[in-house]
Amino acid sequence: MRRRSDATTVVLDAPGWRSTGLADEWVHLWVPGPGGRSGGDGPRRLYSVVDVDPLTLELAHHSPGPAGRWAGRAAAGHRVLVSQPAGRHRPPRDARWEVVVADHTGLPAARRIVAGSPPGRRLLLVLETDDADVPAPEPAGATVVRVFRPDLAEPSALAATVDGLELPDGPGYLWLGAEVPAARAVRRRLRAAGWPPHRYAVSGYWQRRDPGHADRYRAVADRVAALYAEVETGVRDPEAVADDLDDLLDRHRL
Ligand SMILES: Cc1cc2nc3c(=O)[nH]c(=O)nc-3n(C[C@H](O)[C@H](O)[C@H](O)COP(=O)(O)OP(=O)(O)OC[C@H]3O[C@@H](n4cnc5c(N)ncnc54)[C@H](O)[C@@H]3O)c2cc1C
Repeated sequence: MRRRSDATTVVLDAPGWRSTGLADEWVHLWVPGPGGRSGGDGPRRLYSVVDVDPLTLELAHHSPGPAGRWAGRAAAGHRVLVSQPAGRHRPPRDARWEVVVADHTGLPAARRIVAGSPPGRRLLLVLETDDADVPAPEPAGATVVRVFRPDLAEPSALAATVDGLELPDGPGYLWLGAEVPAARAVRRRLRAAGWPPHRYAVSGYWQRRDPGHADRYRAVADRVAALYAEVETGVRDPEAVADDLDDLLDRHRL
């Protein structure tokens, strides 16, 4: 267990856990409820695997939710439940460069992506954190753009910063793990610019939820389920379905 002011690193004894080998792999984590020492039937959240052996996760303190609160008080001897992992980071072998975009939630995965990047692949990192004290990877030869967002109530500047990047020539790849509006904005721009889907993995890692969020979601839940069904049954291109899903959720402030 290591605690910084912004995040807690939790090392788990998890026999039977098997890595996918994907650099952004994550697990579902069932955290102990308020005051508890054991997770299992409590809330389940997603966390990136920062180290495989032993299984290590890094939980940001920024969230007022159950996982963020547990991160602040996690202690040796607490018991949690974790799922087997999944991941999306699959840069094509021919990628000569990679853009890695992360806020405080994507940073743990971004560190592992950078650490595992093959020699010769040029890295461009866009990292948004509270302040300059948050440790961020700065590999030799990489372009590192640090964006500071001391107040999470202010909008993320990640999408605008990615827009301003000068991308190298040749085939590349873009990975993003950050707040939902930034993820949607970047994905839309990649789609508009004609990026093929195997050249990016863009994921919303967290979302600000106001008190009306759950009611608004219930109102569109059937339409969301119908869109997911179109992907599962293979009747439509998953990226086109994702376009419709993003538009629907944006329209309902979700
Ligand atoms: C694939 C994936 C990998 C992830 N990896 C990591 C990781 O390695 N480390 C990490 O810290 N997070 C990571 N996250 C994000 C994490 O799962 C969410 O932040 C999660 O919602 C936190 O749960 P909670 O119980 O603390 O808050 P919740 O109960 O989910 O949310 C309560 C309220 O807190 C606010 N909130 C939630 N998360 C945040 C946040 N991060 N910052 C500010 N406000 C927030 C929202 O407004 C929400 O209404 C990842 C998410 C995904 C999808």
